[in-house]
Amino acid sequence: MSKYAFDTLKVRAGYNPSDHRNAVSVPIYQTTAYELGDSYRADRLFAFEEDDPIYTRLSNPTVDVLEQRITALHPGAAASIALASGMAAVTYALLNAAGKGGRILTTARLYGGTVDSFEQIFDEYGIGVDIVENPDDISEFELKFTDDTKAVFLETLTNPFGTIPDLERIAYIAHQKGATLIVDNTVATPYLMNPFSHEADVVVYSATKALSGHGNVIAGIVVESGRFDYGAGRHPQFTKPLWFLRDSENRKRHILEIFPDAPFTGRIRAVHLNYLGAALGPFDAYLVLIGLETLSERVDKQVKNARLVRAFLEKNEHVAWLRHPEGDGSAYGALREKYFPKGVGSLVSFGFKGTEEQRRTFLASTEVFSYQANIGDARSLIINPAQTTHVELTERQCELVGLSPDTVRLSVGLEDPNDLIKDLKGAFAKAFE
Ligand SMILES: *Cc1c(COP(=O)(O)O)cnc(C)c1O
Repeated sequence: MSKYAFDTLKVRAGYNPSDHRNAVSVPIYQTTAYELGDSYRADRLFAFEEDDPIYTRLSNPTVDVLEQRITALHPGAAASIALASGMAAVTYALLNAAGKGGRILTTARLYGGTVDSFEQIFDEYGIGVDIVENPDDISEFELKFTDDTKAVFLETLTNPFGTIPDLERIAYIAHQKGATLIVDNTVATPYLMNPFSHEADVVVYSATKALSGHGNVIAGIVVESGRFDYGAGRHPQFTKPLWFLRDSENRKRHILEIFPDAPFTGRIRAVHLNYLGAALGPFDAYLVLIGLETLSERVDKQVKNARLVRAFLEKNEHVAWLRHPEGDGSAYGALREKYFPKGVGSLVSFGFKGTEEQRRTFLASTEVFSYQANIGDARSLIINPAQTTHVELTERQCELVGLSPDTVRLSVGLEDPNDLIKDLKGAFAKAFE
């Protein structure tokens, strides 16, 4: 399949109808467990020597198609693992890299839930987090590195302002120090950017957003390149012999022996999915597969619609500021050309010029844009991130992100762009009448 282009793979990869009674659409394998056959086969299955499914928490044929399709959509990827949510993908990936006493090097330009998990989860597990305050200054990554830094974690296109980190330069620093580079590519999607073409080692997604694209499912995915050497010493959890991984002669084995081609996702499956259990259900995997079939078409139209909406807002007297990587004089112009030649997705954020009451009226007055906490939906969405999606951020974190109380974020959908602009005009008129 890998000889085919992205748009062919997104509707076909990972699925062969002749393996599934010739069903054209991917069947939903709604089953908890699988017949083990004879007990010799069971021995092989439980010793990781045969990889057919045993139990749906660990793997499922419908979920498996999704995993293979996502891998195929990332040239340079070795394997993927689907999980029950984007948060599960982020936390499992970071827990997997950090190990006992490890540290994660990251920035404040992250999804609000991720930022808050550092305090609510990682601190409790003894994993430290160091924040690069100005990620546009690459030297700060070098300065903040410690002997315990196991991973660098970045969002490739940030929410709400679309800032862009210089992946290749940051990857170079991480790799020199022996740390793995994990990126959250949710806002960008693999259609706009493949992080494995820019030296990332692990990519995580909230498939809840543009990947599935219809606001009808919660799902997450971790993808890995298979190129990073987890046996080099900084990640001893990958080379520690373990009883539960023993072979048929009761010899303990380690993760790198069992999953040599894809140790990162292999370990997430054997450890985090197995024991923490955020498994994606087969029906939810099916919904993501259906959404993926139109990923390029949706994102292309959203990029176009977002440009038209942005052009309208840039000229509007009630807009105090508009920060966007495609805007005139954006500090991210060169990085955008390098990493995002096809566009920067559907988010447009601006400052509302008016009183708090006028802003509240504006938010309540759109009829097409729905007021809700999601992005990447087929429908256009509007929200005030400082008071909602990013409410966990401390004052200092808001300052680092540049997130002020007047911020309004739009996630532009697939409606007629003239209706979207009319809708915003109408809401401004209501707010200022
Ligand atoms: C939404 C989101 C998440 C969390 O995903 P869920 O599917 O809601 O758990 C993580 N990262 C980013 C960038 C997101 O937008």
